[in-house]
Amino acid sequence: MTAPLILWFRRDLRLTDNLALAAAATTGAPLVALFILDEDDDPPLGGAARWWLHHSLVSLTHDLRERGLSLTLRRGPSAASLTRLVPETGARAVFWSRVYEPAALRRDGEIETMLRASGVEAQSFSGALLFEPGEIRSAQGRAFRVFAPFWRAAQAIVAPGAPKPAPTRLRAAPAPRSERLEDWGLTPREPDWAGGLRDAWRPGESGARARLDAFVEDGVRDYAAARDFPAKDNVSRLSPHLHWGEIGPRQVWRAIEGADAPRADIAAFLRELGWREFCHHILLDHPSLPEAPLDPDFARFPWAQDDGTLFRAWARGATGYPFVDAGMRQLWLTGWMHNRLRMIVASFLVKHLLLDWREGERWFFDTLVDADLSSNAFNWQWAAGCGADAAPYFRIFNPVLQGEKYDADGAFVRRFVPELARLDAHYIHRPWTAPEQKLREAGVRLGETYPLAIIDLAAARRRALDAFDSCRRAR
Ligand code: FAD
Repeated sequence: MTAPLILWFRRDLRLTDNLALAAAATTGAPLVALFILDEDDDPPLGGAARWWLHHSLVSLTHDLRERGLSLTLRRGPSAASLTRLVPETGARAVFWSRVYEPAALRRDGEIETMLRASGVEAQSFSGALLFEPGEIRSAQGRAFRVFAPFWRAAQAIVAPGAPKPAPTRLRAAPAPRSERLEDWGLTPREPDWAGGLRDAWRPGESGARARLDAFVEDGVRDYAAARDFPAKDNVSRLSPHLHWGEIGPRQVWRAIEGADAPRADIAAFLRELGWREFCHHILLDHPSLPEAPLDPDFARFPWAQDDGTLFRAWARGATGYPFVDAGMRQLWLTGWMHNRLRMIVASFLVKHLLLDWREGERWFFDTLVDADLSSNAFNWQWAAGCGADAAPYFRIFNPVLQGEKYDADGAFVRRFVPELARLDAHYIHRPWTAPEQKLREAGVRLGETYPLAIIDLAAARRRALDAFDSCRRAR
């Protein structure tokens, strides 16, 4: 076969277990590897995600080059870019891996129709999920709204197949003109706020693989119990790699299944992969998930009015509640936050500050390296109590008690809130209760070196429950 085939990379920035790539290689056609920066994407990429994408593309370019292929970069609407590239290369086919988001699926459907109409083969492949959306249904054929039965039904389906190895050599078509990655401005300059991200992450397929291997070696054992303690190294931190498809869920599944760890730890981890699937499935069944509460009662929730002061204190990690602040600063510094903290800071924003969950969702989307439309929207709705299988609204995390339980010695707070680093563990989650002398010895001046609490927890809790009651009564 001599006419080229375009392999359109999107959120499958890997060579191993990439079904679109494997199928393309099998045809024997010379390949054009393509990535399109489509700034019409809905929603547009956040700042941390742009930084990640830049480095992931550097890594993919390197890996493809080792196999004899260069990566063509184009910027613009996907359909228009393909319309130009197909005649430019003389391609007879375009292959890609599916992105399971409503806007992307709609756009891809239009592209498929357009390509076929002009006599070009268009094929999409799975790879981002373990199970195709729509595959997991109740006995009555309905979509699940509750995780436990969803996961039971998913596990009854045959376990995900073995991952496909990366091809060792690829046949290259003459490379078309490519834009320069440096010209895309994906990494921040003036100011360059990405220093913490560079220290924390290695985007790209080999970084993903190294992280998975390290986690299989040292992290899975004890995962079930230790995953809630943010100072411990017992979570995988695979979320950004999974989001960009630098590693596929089947690869993760297989590696964890084979880990030398108790069955309970392995099952607990696979269940988290199940939550990731569930979020995607819910988004496709409810495309308005990022904007509208699944529970219609919440549409009239009486959110507090804020001139931006409370939101800013939350976003900057200056609420005066050390566990919340440590989480928010971990996010700002590293582009990632431990799941326990995500739940606590989300609950604090929505229930203690009574600010709309969509504000928090937007902030996370901009600052997380793993920002993902489905997981982010789903989990914000979960935390707010208005989503699928959500935490009940009246369950309000107390950030002081959570800190004392999950960060008893204050190690996590000390790392991200250095102005409290010398405070006794006894006071670190409630510095306002420390005697003056203890504060002085630790160099803490409340209201100066560290903020006073911006809200009274007990009063805020009562206000949240009243607000909830009022919106239920109005039903
Ligand atoms: P691990 O504990 O190692 O879990 C393994 C994998 O399972 C993760 O990489 C992730 O892909 C998946 N996973 C774990 N927990 C969840 C969950 N609750 N929901 C969906 N998938 C899960 N995750 C994102 O990937 N992107 C987001 O934008 C995102 N936003 C969130 C917002 C809020 C308010 C909350 C409470 C959670 C959010 N999560 C999001 C889910 C979860 O916090 C992260 O997936 C997890 O912390 C990533 O760390 P890890 O890879 O070490 O997780």
